[in-house]
Amino acid sequence: MPIQENTLVNAAVHAGLIEASALANLKMQARRQQLPLLELLCKNGRYPQTALYRAVAENRGLAFYEREDIKVVTRYLDALNAQILLKRLFIPVQVGEQLIALTADPDDKLAVDTVQRTLNKPATLALANPLLIEALLRDHYGEHRNQFNAVSIFDEIMKESYLRQATDLHFEALESGMQLRMRVDGRLQHYDRPINKALAESLMSRIKVLAGLDIAEQNMAQDGGFAYAIEDWEDLAPIELRVATLPTRFGERATLRILGQGTANLTLSQLGLPSHLLQPMQEAIHRPYGIVLVTGPTGSGKSTTLYASLRELDAARLNIMTVEDPIEQVIEGISQVQVADKVSFSKALRSFLRHDPDVMLVGEIRDGETAETAVRAAMTGHMVLSTLHTNNAVSAINRLIDIGCPSYLIASTLLGVLAQRLLRRICQHCRYSYTATTHDLELLEISDPDLQLHRGKGCSHCMGSGYSGRVGVYETLWMDKQLEQLIHQGASEQAMKQYAQEADKLQTLWKDARQKVLEGITTLEEASTLYQTS
Ligand SMILES: [Zn+2]
Repeated sequence: MPIQENTLVNAAVHAGLIEASALANLKMQARRQQLPLLELLCKNGRYPQTALYRAVAENRGLAFYEREDIKVVTRYLDALNAQILLKRLFIPVQVGEQLIALTADPDDKLAVDTVQRTLNKPATLALANPLLIEALLRDHYGEHRNQFNAVSIFDEIMKESYLRQATDLHFEALESGMQLRMRVDGRLQHYDRPINKALAESLMSRIKVLAGLDIAEQNMAQDGGFAYAIEDWEDLAPIELRVATLPTRFGERATLRILGQGTANLTLSQLGLPSHLLQPMQEAIHRPYGIVLVTGPTGSGKSTTLYASLRELDAARLNIMTVEDPIEQVIEGISQVQVADKVSFSKALRSFLRHDPDVMLVGEIRDGETAETAVRAAMTGHMVLSTLHTNNAVSAINRLIDIGCPSYLIASTLLGVLAQRLLRRICQHCRYSYTATTHDLELLEISDPDLQLHRGKGCSHCMGSGYSGRVGVYETLWMDKQLEQLIHQGASEQAMKQYAQEADKLQTLWKDARQKVLEGITTLEEASTLYQTS
């Protein structure tokens, strides 16, 4: 049965999702803004409603499950009455070998009794988000009563993506309807809404209309963008989105990228760059000319670092020009250009040279033409910042050579390379320490048998993942005479790496990650993904 609002609010207070003292004020605001108290609670704390249900489970000492944790067993569902399950919102599922009566109401004894009696097996009560339970039931019974229209469900989705601080939204066409997932801290999470074929189609139309795409065209990939203001949440700035659609086997899918989510206004020193890496980076970008590269795979936080670098510069005294795809953050006092059909990275860069620039940012160096224009600009007395898709700092040099940039130009203009990744931060609310295993100690090259490492247990603040937010880990390579010489000679990546390591010029990703494990910022599990690449 539906859970009482009070139960959810009390659990939220108990879990520390909201201060008890802030409650009265929040209730007043809810009345004034005519918003449901629970919605305002989540909006102010910026967490999804699932957090409240998880808090109830924590409070009552019950297990809480997400879609990934459970198995829906057809013969269990067929044995029960669909109408009763849908009306009372509970579902028998399997977790491991256990039979679970999954419900949103911690006091729903009837759910356990019904499941036990019908299936003639002992069952345990556990909690889940009621939306998940409903989605599972409707999926199984193929009964898609649509209580949403496309406009309101899109608004709901945008609210949820704000609360979860998602960076990408996936609308994926299925045979029976549509699945929604959101990328949060680099991983995809389900967003459970029963969406049938008809609603999926109107939802796609809604997105295409908003993004200025052709709604009649369903057999071609399209892309566009828009700014979305959430209804009823007027105090929130509109959310900037980039949209791409693609025809797939069961219909069109759309991917919405949310720009500038949560990283706007960060400065270099707030990124988690260790101080011995921060200082040379700051010095480099303040040099009058040369080129500084930031490398890493997609989603490793490169543009956040570049924006933070630009913010360090004095836009009042310098002419700063950028060409980007897309423009993710708007910075006051600089000229930002969006890449388009007629404006490529290299074309824009060549035009910039006629506008008396001091600093130029090229969103990405993908081809030889852009690379050469960039290094030539650096050669003629400009500061150039850009990114490259390479795994580490040293390989950036060889990548430039591979795409056709003359090595003597690289040697004389490159100031340095910063490579980076994002690792998940341990949730501060459920962090616990444990004694490192022998294997851990070997990996960390530490002999102290009492060494304490940290993990997150999983709580309502972190949706049970044990992680909340991410932290950058970095490696840098700054040029010196010897390296310039090596580039000139066309030395191999291995030779350059060996020199850099011997001369102690290479602070590797793993070294930084290891340090952040020892400081209890991230887990060894997260960091160890970088062990091989160092
Ligand atoms: Zn937590």
